[in-house]
Amino acid sequence: MKYLIWLVIALAVVVWLQRAKKSIAANAGSPQGSAGASRNPFARKQRKEEAETMVQCAHCGIHFPASESVSNAAGIVYCSEEHLRLASS
Ligand SMILES: [Zn+2]
Repeated sequence: MKYLIWLVIALAVVVWLQRAKKSIAANAGSPQGSAGASRNPFARKQRKEEAETMVQCAHCGIHFPASESVSNAAGIVYCSEEHLRLASS
């Protein structure tokens, strides 16, 4: 009976260790993981997207990614077609 209790405790420790290992691996794979991000090519790509140039809307002043910008003939950027229209009218 004494050995059975120790066997159960040992099994619980092994299961707990495996779960801890899995959670560490999962954290390293996520973009927030500082150590794993540089090794993971997907995380690196995601970082590039995060570091996209931010521009400011000339109408409302909001900051947004340059890829979502709408610009007029003079090259002034706006956050939306509506703000482009409102600013030019
Ligand atoms: Zn705007």
